[in-house]
Amino acid sequence: MGAAPAQEELILQGLGVSGGIAESDVVVHWQDEEEVPMRDIKPEEIPGEIARFEAALIATRQELLEIQQRIAGGIGAADASIFDAHLLVVEDRTLIDEALRGLERELHNIEFIFHKVAEKYCRTLQAIDDPYLQERVVDIEDVTRRVIRHLLGKSRENLHKLDRPHIIVARNLTPSDTALINRQLVRGFVTEQGSRTSHSAIIARSLGIPAIVALSGACSKLTTGDHVLLDGYSGRLIANPGEQTRFEYGRLEQQKVEVKHLLEAIRETTSKTRDGRHIVLSANIELPSELDAVLSAGAEGVGLFRTEFLFLNRPEPPGEDEQYEAYRLVAERCAPHGVIIRTLDVGGDKLMHLPDSMREDNPFLGCRAIRLCLGEPELFKTQLRAILRASAHGNVRLMYPMVSQLGEVRKANALLAECKDELAAKGRAFNPDIETGTMIEVPAAALIADQLAREVRFFSIGTNDLIQYTMAVDRGNDRIAHLYQPTHPSVLRLLSMTAEAAHRNGLWVGICGEVASDIHLTPLLLGLGIDELSVVTAAVPRVKKAVQCLDSNECRELADRLRGMDDPAGIEAASCEHARQRYPELFDC
Ligand code: PEP
Ligand code: MG
Repeated sequence: MGAAPAQEELILQGLGVSGGIAESDVVVHWQDEEEVPMRDIKPEEIPGEIARFEAALIATRQELLEIQQRIAGGIGAADASIFDAHLLVVEDRTLIDEALRGLERELHNIEFIFHKVAEKYCRTLQAIDDPYLQERVVDIEDVTRRVIRHLLGKSRENLHKLDRPHIIVARNLTPSDTALINRQLVRGFVTEQGSRTSHSAIIARSLGIPAIVALSGACSKLTTGDHVLLDGYSGRLIANPGEQTRFEYGRLEQQKVEVKHLLEAIRETTSKTRDGRHIVLSANIELPSELDAVLSAGAEGVGLFRTEFLFLNRPEPPGEDEQYEAYRLVAERCAPHGVIIRTLDVGGDKLMHLPDSMREDNPFLGCRAIRLCLGEPELFKTQLRAILRASAHGNVRLMYPMVSQLGEVRKANALLAECKDELAAKGRAFNPDIETGTMIEVPAAALIADQLAREVRFFSIGTNDLIQYTMAVDRGNDRIAHLYQPTHPSVLRLLSMTAEAAHRNGLWVGICGEVASDIHLTPLLLGLGIDELSVVTAAVPRVKKAVQCLDSNECRELADRLRGMDDPAGIEAASCEHARQRYPELFDC
């Protein structure tokens, strides 16, 4: 903490990504910015360099497999799969061939060439605005560092040489650094870089180690030996915590433990309001592998299965049988609860088998989701048949994304009827009465909800898109994030209209966008008449507790009052105030 007087508290703010409080001395971990030496070589040395390179790749692969095994044994196979991406890097022919070509062309030592090629690769990926690719950059850097360390004959640097408990402070921690952390000796970690979805943040949550990322300047503001208190919930790091701070944190920690136990105790209970209204509480998934977490969180099945992940990054779309197996697995695992399978929700640019001419300047307003599917009936029908076949194995519903026209639902339902005939002709089993719904995520759909209600059995409101399209705010654009307002009166009116149209026509209505996971808004959503909340898995216990603490009549009165207000912040504050009164224990921690 360099300049700070010895006993003065210094508060640094980052992003809390793994909950928990820790107090300990810090170790500032300066990653060795590998000084990669450059050396000229003669052409006859090339075979020797290639052999060294191959040996280093093999050794790195071995090292990664060992780490992966350790993690699979310790924190579970799902998180260990992060290292699949690392293993792919050691086998990446583009990277390796480029290095070998560079070796012959430039006649420098292989570590220098490989470092240069990997850096170029990372720069290219970094320039693309895609969180998945950004994360791949960290993987590639991690693997490159390992390969170079082997080439330089350096021993594996590790963080578990520590001999007493510490909080690690680093510019960035690679996933393998994090995975190798010795839980007994590492109380928490803080990095200058990273985000909620960084692999190191994911591993920290799995290991249950409090962690803060994106704390800029942490390495220079702190020095090894400083005593700190780390709050992984709020992202605050307090150096030299005083007596009062330590006392308050001690109390907070105790409260959090109590809430954790409270939430564990209600896991098997139903999400019913105090006056007995059952709000179906389900979870959103992208891949069948998330089901374990969904079921152990106490969710009533899956309210949104985003199937597009089965279609991405492959030259051909999955066939009917492959899709059927995936959907059937989910249906069987969710029983006796249900799964709502959403049909493909992507633009043409995401599907590799479609021509480049499908690329659009404005994909969010382009030919995606139901629009794309209706234009590619064979692709769509293959998915519909797979969903229908899965419906023979559990409680399966299906829904269409990005609907804006009544005609779209009618056409989709007509194709569904054709699929039923085709399956029946082949003697395939399916549920002929499968419940079909539509997502309401375009203002046009909310405004004609009464008309759509005649064609489907339920609505699921996709607030992520509904807010973006209503407010004309790109949901991924940080610069205008303040205009993305879930409690804007226009959004409230659309939600309210949709719920009323649903109920007048005997349909149920759910929300599967992110707002469903926000316990500040649960009173408002219940008051608007929402029947189902499909939330991110981690939010299931909290939302369940919130629902159980609310009274649906009080919520209705609240919503009636908020419908008359004109200020988004005021509406949010009023819902939040109601929530705080009903379940204060979920707020302070
Ligand atoms: C939504 O738009 O709210 C939604 C749930 O769909 P996605 O986030 O997949 O667009
Ligand atoms: Mg959407």
